[in-house]
Amino acid sequence: MIYIKPVPFLIYRKRTLDGDTAGRIRPDLMLIGIDDTDSHEGMCTTYLGALLAARLRDAGFLVTSMTLARLNPNARYKTRGNAAVCIETDAGEKGFEIACGLVGELADLSCDNTNPGVAMSESPLPSWFYKKAVTGFLTIEEAFVFLDENGAVYRGWKNKRGLIGAAAALSASFGDTTYELLAYRHHEDKGERDVDRESIFLAEKMTYPHTWDSVDPENRVVVCVPHTPDPVIYGIRGESPEWVEKAASYIISEEPFITALYRTNQGTDAHLIDARIGDMKEDRSYRTKGIVSSNPATGEGGHVSFNLLDEQGASVRCMAYEPVKGFRDIVRALIPGDIVTVCGSFKGGSINLEKIEVVSLAEKTEVHPPVCTCGKRMTSAGSGKGYKCRRCGEKSGEHGIILVERTISTGRYEVPPVARRHLSKPLVRDGLFDS
Ligand code: ATP
Repeated sequence: MIYIKPVPFLIYRKRTLDGDTAGRIRPDLMLIGIDDTDSHEGMCTTYLGALLAARLRDAGFLVTSMTLARLNPNARYKTRGNAAVCIETDAGEKGFEIACGLVGELADLSCDNTNPGVAMSESPLPSWFYKKAVTGFLTIEEAFVFLDENGAVYRGWKNKRGLIGAAAALSASFGDTTYELLAYRHHEDKGERDVDRESIFLAEKMTYPHTWDSVDPENRVVVCVPHTPDPVIYGIRGESPEWVEKAASYIISEEPFITALYRTNQGTDAHLIDARIGDMKEDRSYRTKGIVSSNPATGEGGHVSFNLLDEQGASVRCMAYEPVKGFRDIVRALIPGDIVTVCGSFKGGSINLEKIEVVSLAEKTEVHPPVCTCGKRMTSAGSGKGYKCRRCGEKSGEHGIILVERTISTGRYEVPPVARRHLSKPLVRDGLFDS
């Protein structure tokens, strides 16, 4: 095992707003957006971004920022995490050429579902395109029109679908920003990754809550090391470049071939739309408030579901699947009458829960035999005959109602790190339900 201290090689500066070049410190800088270079057999667009940054620097150009934009997690053609990247550089057309060369060299073009796109613009493009790409859907034609209207240079391969993500990367504007430090092996290495598991638990212990989701302490699982055949060795997510670097300094692993530090929209809830149940559309992600209208039921495979009803009388099924582990116990503890805000993707007519806020709890009661005037609890007098006191013989037709203590409190609950979506904001980041 080799002790690795990642060396940050990028200079950060604040991204200017929405297509606005006025505040740009270096008007000679260009943005290069890239997407759709990987397949299930390997590669990763963020790795290609890291290589591009390295090649640009080797060629004597500046790389001033690297952005990783996660797009709609329910997009149909995504390979894994629906990532697109944007590199800011002073390399101009040479940068575009180098980026296209890398895509030609490394993208898995033999895979039907790999349709790369590279686009370049002089300044950030209007952010509505990114917002639609992270919350909804766009067509390849819309990407062409958008890029043409905004004077971008672009190149697509095969059906060119990657231009949607590349355009979204050029228009990415994050209200809330997090960082990820990624360590990569060479893209031809496909074996088991050599990472010391305990060192990752230590990294989390030393830097949490400033970094998150490296491990899942409750389920004792390492989350930041993938099991897929891509080049990522590990990725550390956190609130600043300093914190992710600090966490990475504890990690003992095989020597990375390359590292990259991206600013990202991960862990920001950028995918959530506030909506009423009746207005929800398939494959978008929502935050909505309602009243629990059925007792949670545990179905086949251990998934738990309940119905949520809103003030307009619309109802939706909310699901907590087996991979969310202990979060299902929270869901099982709900009862009809509880008021909750739920967050999650709307798929197949159900909301797949990512987070829940229990706003208020209904009273839980149980029916028992009444207590007699003599103080003793009555017992059943026989089917349909009410209750009878065995001590003094008094009878009653009334039930006794007992208030039962709830096993859940008001507050916010989330799925564990092992089941968290890239875009979902962990509760530890606070402010959570307001994006
Ligand atoms: P990679 O690491 O290569 O980026 P991935 O899991 O991020 O892998 P892709 O292989 O890029 O997924 O596939 C996603 C495809 O879907 C891309 O072609 C991208 O342009 C497109 N896409 C992304 N978001 C949307 C969206 N909101 N609407 C339509 N298409 C989208």
